Amino acid sequence: MSYEAYRDPSLAFETKQLHYGYNPAEHYRSKAVPIYQTTAFELGSFERCERLFSFREEGHSYVRYSNPTNEVLEKRIAALEGGAAAVSMSSGMSAVSNTFFNLAQQGDEIAAVKTLYGGTTTLLSKVLPPYGIKANWIENADDPDSYRAAITDKTKAVYVESLGNPGMNVIDLETVAAIAHEHGIPLIVDNTFATPYLLCPFEFGADIVLHSSTKYLSGHGTIISGLVVEKGGFDWWNGKFPQFEEFYKDYAGKIEEKSLRNTAFTRRLRIRYLTEFGSSLSPIGAFLVLQGLETLSLRMQRHADNAMKLAEFLKNHPKILDVAYPSLPGSPYYGLAKKYFPRGSGAILSVRVKGGLEAAKRVLQKVRIFDYLVNVGDAKSLIVHPATSTHYGLPEDVRKEAGVYDDTLRISVGIENIDDLIRDMAQALED
Ligand code: PLP
Repeated sequence: MSYEAYRDPSLAFETKQLHYGYNPAEHYRSKAVPIYQTTAFELGSFERCERLFSFREEGHSYVRYSNPTNEVLEKRIAALEGGAAAVSMSSGMSAVSNTFFNLAQQGDEIAAVKTLYGGTTTLLSKVLPPYGIKANWIENADDPDSYRAAITDKTKAVYVESLGNPGMNVIDLETVAAIAHEHGIPLIVDNTFATPYLLCPFEFGADIVLHSSTKYLSGHGTIISGLVVEKGGFDWWNGKFPQFEEFYKDYAGKIEEKSLRNTAFTRRLRIRYLTEFGSSLSPIGAFLVLQGLETLSLRMQRHADNAMKLAEFLKNHPKILDVAYPSLPGSPYYGLAKKYFPRGSGAILSVRVKGGLEAAKRVLQKVRIFDYLVNVGDAKSLIVHPATSTHYGLPEDVRKEAGVYDDTLRISVGIENIDDLIRDMAQALED
C-alpha cells in the first residue's frame, strides 16, 4: 500500500479518521500508531539540540511538550475539523482553561453564553475572576443583540457550545461568528457533543474548536482527554492581543514565518501553557483517543439515529413533561438543527419527568440498561440527574438558565439496539 493517505486532504472524513496524520514508514511500518511510552527523546548532538530548542527543527525532546503518538492525534483531529493545527491535553477542562489563559490577561473578559457545561460555568464565574479574567454573560443565546451587548473593548472572545450541555440548544454559529469578527475577536466553540462528524464549526466561521475527547471522540469511556483545534488565519495582530504581539517578537525568525502566523494560537498554547502548566495527555491516552476516532462516523450516526427514536418515544409518553432534542419537530431549535445538523443533532436528550425530583429519582433507580453515571458520549447508554451532579452547587437561577431543573434527566443515548433502550425506558417510567 502507498502511505500517501496520511496527508491527502482530498480524502473523505471516513478515510481520514483511519489514516490521516500517520505515516507507518516513519515508525518501523507499525500498522497501529505506536505508543511512545517515554519521558524524553535523545537529542542526538549538540547541534541538533540547538536546532530543536530554537525551533529551527521540528521534533520531540520532552514529553510534557510533545510526543509522536500525540502528534498523530493532533494532526488527525485538525484534519477532521478542517483546521490548521491542534494541541492534545489531559482533559476537556484543561483544553477549556488553557484556552482562556491563552486568550485573556488581567482585566480582560470572555463573552460566554449561559448554556454551558457546569465545569466551564464555574471556571468562568468562580475560578478565573480572582486572576482578573471575567465572564460577560450573554443573556439570551438565541438573540444576536445579546451577544453584541456582552462585548466590550476588553472582550477577547465569544464562547459557546455547539450543542449546549445539557439543554441541547443550538447556536446560530454563522451569525455569532460574524458578530465576534465585527469586534475583532475569535469565536470559540466547544464541539464536544457534536463532534466533527455532525458539525464542523470552522465551516461556519468559528476560529477555535475545543473538545472533551473523553466523550465521543474516544467513545468508550476509557480516558479523560481534551483537544484544542485552531482554524488558522485569525488576525491576532489587530491590536487586541498584546500577548500574541510579544509572542511573535519572541519567535519571529525562529519558527517559520507563515506557520507562526497561521497557527499562532496553538503554538503559543503549547509553548506557554502546555509546557508551563503541564496539562499534557499521556501517549497511551492519545492512543486510546486515536482508536476511538477510527470508528467515529459509524458510532455518531448510530448514536444520532438511536437518539431520534428514543426522543420520539419519550415525547409521546404521558409521564414526560418535555424532551429537548433539536431534531424533533416542534423543538425551538428545529430550524437551526436542519441547517447545522443534517445528520442528526447529537445523542444527548434532556428530559423533564412529570412528578418532580421524586419521579426523576424513580427512573434512575429503575433503569436496567442505562448506566447511572456522570459521563456522556460513551458507546453505552448513560443517564444522570444534572441538578445533583454535574450542575451541583450552582445557584438555582444559574442552573435553570442552563436548562437544569429538579425534574431534568440527561440521557446519553448509546449504540445498543434501540428496541432494548425503548423497552428499558418504558419499564422505568411505569408506576
Ligand atoms: N465540555 C463539555 C461540553 C463537557 O460536557 C465536559 C465534561 O462533561 C467538558 C467540557 C469537560 O471535559 P473533561 O471531563 O474531559 O474534563
